[in-house]
Amino acid sequence: MGQRAAYLAALGVPDWRQRRPLAMQPVAREAARPTAPPLPLAPVIPAGADARPEESWEAVAAEVARCTRCELHACRTRTVFGVGSRSARWLVVGEAPGAEEDRQGEPFVGRAGKLLDAMLLAIGLRREEVFIANVLKCRPPDNRNPAPGEVAQCLPYLERQIALLKPSIMLAVGSVAAQNLLATDVPVGRLRGRVHSFGSAGTPVVVTYHPAYLLRSPGEKRKVWEDLKYARAIAGAQPA
Ligand code: SF4
Repeated sequence: MGQRAAYLAALGVPDWRQRRPLAMQPVAREAARPTAPPLPLAPVIPAGADARPEESWEAVAAEVARCTRCELHACRTRTVFGVGSRSARWLVVGEAPGAEEDRQGEPFVGRAGKLLDAMLLAIGLRREEVFIANVLKCRPPDNRNPAPGEVAQCLPYLERQIALLKPSIMLAVGSVAAQNLLATDVPVGRLRGRVHSFGSAGTPVVVTYHPAYLLRSPGEKRKVWEDLKYARAIAGAQPA
């Protein structure tokens, strides 16, 4: 089995090139037409659109490292700022650090992280070629969902990261990331398969399931594969 086939197998997509065409879902149809004009469905969020003139990655990282804006600072081991290339075209946005991320200070480590890496490699992206960050920079206790007040305090950091990175595409993984980025309570299953827009720059956002969810529900891996292909098509249609 070749390397790429191994990554696809990890996604539960063992040999997509030799399959007969599936009954195409809306997502797949969109992915097959990368030049189709994106249809922004989510409201444009003006916050964080442009980097401040004096802004820098170092300034944001330093503020996050000493942040006490919400109560989560009291129970963290370390903040999880984000990792990857600061010139990446892809920004992957997740929910919040888990126990292992809190220990290591890096997002998406452990089993879910390995699956995310496999997801990215399946579309030809190495982890270090993208930037990966979370909506929250500190771990909520017992892996509970972030409280609205915590998101309100922490999201500006992500918005500043987005303004610095200026990604060509954002991949929102999981409901917390998707719903907070898009300011909606629509479930992930209904946010998939279409391109959303973030900020005044109109950065395309594609939504898919969180790798931790896939570990519990491996039957959904096919849908994630369709989402990844769709996101790749959208990214390919963006200016370099
Ligand atoms: S979660 Fe965000 S806002 Fe809250 S303390 Fe951590 S860095 Fe600050």
